[in-house]
Amino acid sequence: MSPYRNLEEYNIEITNEVKEHFSKIVDDIGEDVTREGLIKTPERAAKAMLFLTQGYKQNAEEILKGAMFAEEYDDMVIIKDIEVYSLCEHHMLPFFGKAHIAYIPNGHIVGLSKIPRIVDVYARRLQVQERLTHDILECINSTLKPKGVAVVIEAAHMCMMMRGVQKQNSVTTTSGFRGQFEKIETRNEFLKLISSDLS
Ligand SMILES: [Zn+2]
Repeated sequence: MSPYRNLEEYNIEITNEVKEHFSKIVDDIGEDVTREGLIKTPERAAKAMLFLTQGYKQNAEEILKGAMFAEEYDDMVIIKDIEVYSLCEHHMLPFFGKAHIAYIPNGHIVGLSKIPRIVDVYARRLQVQERLTHDILECINSTLKPKGVAVVIEAAHMCMMMRGVQKQNSVTTTSGFRGQFEKIETRNEFLKLISSDLS
């Protein structure tokens, strides 16, 4: 056996059902599902959709709790430029961008890789950017119980760019602050740090 194997598992029944729906969609838009380039498309689209919505079956609190460590560090911890890929719940089209997250520990820190993981848990479902921001904020706040937590997300929405108002360059920013970040000085320090380039 090879030392490492990345396993992808799909529920066959659900995949087949979603595949049938996609097959119908391809047909309804006037395409030929039997032509060579499209023959496996419904199955691929079904698997992509199940991958992109896997967050429903994942538990963000458990992920955080699994990597909390007692530590007397009480300065701001910032993880910035976390890639975000989600699907807008109104059109099921992608919105994507970056999340910047900070917390001020209160006796516990969390393994750094867990923060991007919980972003994925909430992003991989049908979402609106406002709720995504709030979900991440509340999860960190209630699980880690830090002295403060801040979440900023900047994202571009394909449903605005490819259709509708067709505004190609607009970026939507959402933010949420709890605890010490509700104080203007702490919030400003965080906003300054995420907008500065250290390189
Ligand atoms: Zn939309």
